[in-house]
Amino acid sequence: MPRVFTIFWFDCEDFVTPESDDALKRLAEILKANKIRGVFKLVGEKLRALERRERWDVIEALKFHEIGYHTNYHSVHPTVAEYLKNIDFEEGISEFLRREGKGVEDIERLFGVKPSCYGQPGGAWAPQVYPALRKMGIPVYLDLTNIIALEGGPFWYCGILNILNLAPPKGGVIGLNFELGSPGFIEKAMKRYDGIYDLIRDWGIVSVYNHPCTLVTAEFWDAVNFSRGQNTPISMLKMPRLKPKHLVEEGYKDFEKFVRHVKAKPWVEFVTAQELYRLFKDKASERLYDKEEIAFLASNCRRISFQRLEDAYLSASEIFWLITASLAEYRIHGELPERVKNFYPLGPFRSIESEAFGTVKSKDILDEAYKARIFMESQGRIPDWIEIRNLRISPEDFLASEAELYVRLRKEEHPSSKRVQLVKADFQPFRYISPEGARDSWKWIVFPEGFEAWRLVELAKLQTWTMKPSRLEG
Ligand SMILES: [Zn+2]
Repeated sequence: MPRVFTIFWFDCEDFVTPESDDALKRLAEILKANKIRGVFKLVGEKLRALERRERWDVIEALKFHEIGYHTNYHSVHPTVAEYLKNIDFEEGISEFLRREGKGVEDIERLFGVKPSCYGQPGGAWAPQVYPALRKMGIPVYLDLTNIIALEGGPFWYCGILNILNLAPPKGGVIGLNFELGSPGFIEKAMKRYDGIYDLIRDWGIVSVYNHPCTLVTAEFWDAVNFSRGQNTPISMLKMPRLKPKHLVEEGYKDFEKFVRHVKAKPWVEFVTAQELYRLFKDKASERLYDKEEIAFLASNCRRISFQRLEDAYLSASEIFWLITASLAEYRIHGELPERVKNFYPLGPFRSIESEAFGTVKSKDILDEAYKARIFMESQGRIPDWIEIRNLRISPEDFLASEAELYVRLRKEEHPSSKRVQLVKADFQPFRYISPEGARDSWKWIVFPEGFEAWRLVELAKLQTWTMKPSRLEG
């Protein structure tokens, strides 16, 4: 029987419209009445607005649910992608922590928990956010974006579980927003749910999302105040147009109708971000890999990508680790290790083109493997390049070359030829980052006209070293 995991999540961001506080509370109560825990991704300023307006009743209603994070100020400029677009990976990590840390502290102060997940405002996805989330102890990325996807399923990226653009047979996404309450809409949404449900085979995730403010407003709070790069001063914030009262009430009815429809289905399991993390927790990164498994990985390294072993997926960065660590051992002991403990390094932070191909001494590769292992152990990431006799080799070409040497050393412990051909690798995971998708995201109304952030796309590609599908473990 298939398992249809269904997650309800809410982006709670409108700190301008007091009426949206009620929407938040009502939706939280509807789910609770149906014994379902949702995920409420809070903007720091929204939470502080609830405090200022003394809406303890809303905060209380949220306590039954799981709390996620949706940045400190959402659409106030500079937004996440705006302040990260021209800076380095390392610098970006600290910049995100510096600017966004406050909202997480406020969540901890008022709820006594760390947020379980994060999602970006609008089109402001950026890769530097991921290691920052790890530092903050936030293990899941829950949102939508056209920039990154892995065959419609949940996936790992920089050690974070991503629940993004799901597609059949691995799941799907349903948005319930402004249209709630308008005639015919909810029937269509339920039909879409059924369509996704029917296509799920062994398991899948249906991601159902809403912005509570859209129950009460007819337009987005940020579109009227922060469009096209403008920052309306806090004292002059404009209120978005409100929906007529009857439409608001119809909206809640529709939402509850949808919830009950889903609840009545036999294979549905309601989950939160934390529960998904537990269900999909990566076991591959903790275990030991033996010679045979590593040789299998090495024999498939001309085209570099994540690979599947019988009971595990390994990211390209883990494969880099396993082969490099094996060769580093060989350099010391003159034989390949029987087993290697896995490790999950981040990808490199800068990209380079290899400066040389041709042949080098095996000893050079072994020496560099040894140095690369030490680098990964101390820095937690793959080096930006490997230097052999003053020439830089990209990590992907180095891995392809290491892999050839590994395969040879496994056949004959002391090979007759002491030279290795440097190989040009075909690095596949880049294709999981979509430039067209990025362009699409940058059309977000809040960005300045003509906004582009190509450096984010370049940095995002480098971290595809860490990408791999998530396996259902629980
Ligand atoms: Zn948002």
